[in-house]
Amino acid sequence: MKTVPLHPTASGRAPRGAQVHHFTVDVEEYFHASALASVAPMPVWDRLESRVVASTMSLVELLAERGTQGTFFVLGWVAERNPGLVRALAAQGHEVASHGWDHRLITDSKPAEFRESVRRSKAVLESLAGRAVLGFRAPSFSIVRGQEWALDVLLEEGYRYDSSLFPVRRRGYGYAGGAWQPHWLERPAGRLFEVPPATLRGLGASLPAGGGAYFRLLPYGLVRSALLQHERRGAPGTFYIHPWEVDEAQPRLGVSRLTRVRHYGGLERTRPRLRRLLREFRFRTIAETLGAEPRPTHADDPEALASAG
Ligand SMILES: [Zn+2]
Repeated sequence: MKTVPLHPTASGRAPRGAQVHHFTVDVEEYFHASALASVAPMPVWDRLESRVVASTMSLVELLAERGTQGTFFVLGWVAERNPGLVRALAAQGHEVASHGWDHRLITDSKPAEFRESVRRSKAVLESLAGRAVLGFRAPSFSIVRGQEWALDVLLEEGYRYDSSLFPVRRRGYGYAGGAWQPHWLERPAGRLFEVPPATLRGLGASLPAGGGAYFRLLPYGLVRSALLQHERRGAPGTFYIHPWEVDEAQPRLGVSRLTRVRHYGGLERTRPRLRRLLREFRFRTIAETLGAEPRPTHADDPEALASAG
C-alpha cells in the first residue's frame, strides 16, 4: 500500500516541548477487553455491572486538571446505553470518534458486518455529540496485514482518519512495517489519514509504547522516551488508555494468570502516571491535527490541485 509522508508543515526539528501529541481514550466497559472475551461473551454483557461512566469521567477530570482535550473512541454499544456520557464528552470540548459497535475484531468480521458497525456507531455518536465523527480505532488494533479492505469501508462510510495500524510485530495484532508517524494512505476508495499509536524505535526494532498495558506494567520511561523520540523527529505521538485502566475496584473476572497480569496488573499506577504524563507533555485531539494538515497534492488529482490552488 502506497503511503504519503506527512506534509512538511509538521516536519522539521521542533524544540522540546513544542510538539503537541495526541491523548486518546478507547471508551469501553472493563468486560469489553478482547482478553476477557472468553469469560465475558456478548450475551452476558447486559447482566454485568456497568462502570464505564464513572471511570471515563475520572479520566475527563484528569484532563481537566491540565486544560487538555483528547480524542475519545467510543463503542456504539456504550453510547446507546449511556447517551449522557457522549454528550458530556462533547460538551467539554473532547473529540468523539468511533471504536465500532460491539468490539468485534476486524479479523473476525465480514466486510458487511464491519460496514454496519462503523455506520451505526457513527450515526449514533454524531446525533449525541452534535458534530461529525471523523475517526475510527479498531478494537485491539485489529486492522492487520490482509485486512486493509476495512480502510476502504471507512472511507466509503465518511470517515476521514483511522488510528488502528500499530506498526509493531506482535502475536494477534500489529501492522509490522507500517509508518510510525501520522501519514496519508492512498486507497482505492480515496485518501485516509492514518494516525498510528506511538512506538519507540531503535536497533532495528519497534516497541509498542503508546499506552495501555505497556504504560501500566513497564517503566514510565518507555512511554516518555517514545514521545520524546517523536518530538525529535517532528511528529506527534499518539497515546492511548482505557477507562477501566483507572478503575482499581472493577470486578475481577476469572481469567488465566497471564491475562490477570495484563488486564489487572499496575492499575494503581495508571492515575499517578497519567498526571505525570499530562504535566510533562502537551496533547490535543487528532481532529485538531487533521484540521491543520493539508491534503497531499498530486498532479493526477484535480480535486486536490483545485483545493490547493
Ligand atoms: Zn477496545
